[in-house]
Amino acid sequence: MAQENPADRTDNAAPRVGFVSLGCPKALVDSEQILTQLRAEGYETAPDYKSADLVIVNTCGFIDAAVQESLDAIGEAIDANGKVIVTGCLGGKKDAGGNEMVARVHPKVLAVTGPHATQEVMNAVHLHLPKPHDPLIDLVPPQGVRLTPRHYAYLKISEGCNHRCSFCIIPSLRGDLVSRDIGDVMREAEALKTAGVKELLVISQDTSAYGVDLKFRQGFVNGRPVRTRMTELVQELATLDLWVRLHYVYPYPHVDEVIPLMAEGKLLPYLDVPLQHAHPDVLKRMKRPASGESNLDRIRAWRAMAPDITLRSTFIVGFPGETEAQFDYLLDFLREAELDRVGCFTYSAVDGAAANLLDGAVPEEVKQDRLRRFMEVQAAISSRRLKRKVGRTLKVLIDQVNQDGGVGRSFADAPEIDGVVYVAPAEKPWKRYKAGDIVSVKIEGADDHDLWGSI
Ligand code: SF4
Repeated sequence: MAQENPADRTDNAAPRVGFVSLGCPKALVDSEQILTQLRAEGYETAPDYKSADLVIVNTCGFIDAAVQESLDAIGEAIDANGKVIVTGCLGGKKDAGGNEMVARVHPKVLAVTGPHATQEVMNAVHLHLPKPHDPLIDLVPPQGVRLTPRHYAYLKISEGCNHRCSFCIIPSLRGDLVSRDIGDVMREAEALKTAGVKELLVISQDTSAYGVDLKFRQGFVNGRPVRTRMTELVQELATLDLWVRLHYVYPYPHVDEVIPLMAEGKLLPYLDVPLQHAHPDVLKRMKRPASGESNLDRIRAWRAMAPDITLRSTFIVGFPGETEAQFDYLLDFLREAELDRVGCFTYSAVDGAAANLLDGAVPEEVKQDRLRRFMEVQAAISSRRLKRKVGRTLKVLIDQVNQDGGVGRSFADAPEIDGVVYVAPAEKPWKRYKAGDIVSVKIEGADDHDLWGSI
C-alpha cells in the first residue's frame, strides 16, 4: 500500500487515527467502541502509521509474552509516528516497584488508560488531535448553552445520590450517584474559562461523595493521571485561577483536605454544607448523611485552618417528631456554630417521601413559630458577622452596573442565595466597569444580609 504523509493532506481533511488492537475479545470490543466513537465524531482511520495523525494502541497484559508484544507495538508506533495513546489491560498494569509499566518503558506516550475506557481515550484524542468541525453540532459553543450570566457558571460534577434522606425523593427521581469523568469536568471548566467565566459554582447532590461510585478510579486531566475524587478535582480546579465555590458539601472528614487551598487563596473560602438539623435524634429520623460527625468540632477546625471561611447551611424546622427541646438544641447549635449564611424551611411533606409515614406531625402554627425564632437568632448572628467586614477591602465580582454604581458579590456571597455588595463608584462615569469585573471595594456599611462600599 502506498504510504501517505499527513502533511500532504489539505487543511480541512478529517484527522486520521491509526489503530492497533491486541488481546482478547473483550479488548476487541473495547477497540470497536473506540473506533465507533471516533467515526461518529468525524475522525477517519489511517491504514498505516505514517499517514496517521495519531496512533492508539489497545494492549493486552495477560501473560508475559502478551505484555512484551504490547510493549513492542507501542515502541514501534512511537518510532514510526510519535503521537501514541495507549489503552487496554497493560495500561492499568504496574511493575514490581508499583510504577505504571507503560509510562516507565515508554515515557513518550501521550496518555495511558486502563481497559474499557472509551471516554478517557476520546478525551485524550480530543486533547492531542482536536475534533473535526461538525457544521451541526458546532453551532453550539464549546461551553454549551448556559442560562447564567456570562461571568459565572454552574459546574455539575455528578448526578443522583446514594443517600436516602427520609424527606427527599431525589434518589427515586434521579437514581444513585453517577460521577462525571474528571477529564470531562475539567474540560468543561476550561471551556467555561475560555468563554469568559470568572466564577465556577461546583454543584451536585453530594459533592463530597464525588467519585465514590467509580471507586475513585484514575482518570486523566490533560493527559495526566488524576483520581476521581473531590480533593483531587478541587486541586485541579484551583489551578484555573478562577473563583471556585463549593456547594452541597457534606462534612465528611476528607473535606478537611480542601480547606488549606482556601487558606492559600486558591479556592474561595466558602462552604455550603446542608446540615438540616443539629439534634442527633432528628438527624437519625431524617436519615441524614454524616449525621454522626461532630459538626461543631469540624467547623472549629475549618475556621482554625481558614479564619476567613464563610459557612452556609440550610435547616428544616418542624420535622415530624421534633420536640421543643430538640428545637432548642438546634438554636443552641446555631449560636455556637455562628454560621454566616443560613436558609431555613418549615417541614412540608413531599409525595412519596418516607418521612410522610413518621409519627409526630408538628402543627403548622408551631412550625411557623419555630421558623420565626430560628430566623431571629440567625439574623443577629449574620448581622454581627457581616459588621466585622466593615473597614476591610474585599474583592467584589460585579454582577450588574447601574446609575448608582454596581451590585456585586464578595467571596462570601453565592449568586441568588446569599447577600450582595452594593458598590458606589469611585468616580463617574461608572461605565468604566462592567459585569464580570473583579474590583477592590472598601466596605463601609452592613445590615443583616448585604454590604455597602466604594471602589
Ligand atoms: S437530601 Fe439526602 S437523599 Fe436527598 S439528595 Fe440530598 S443527600 Fe441525597
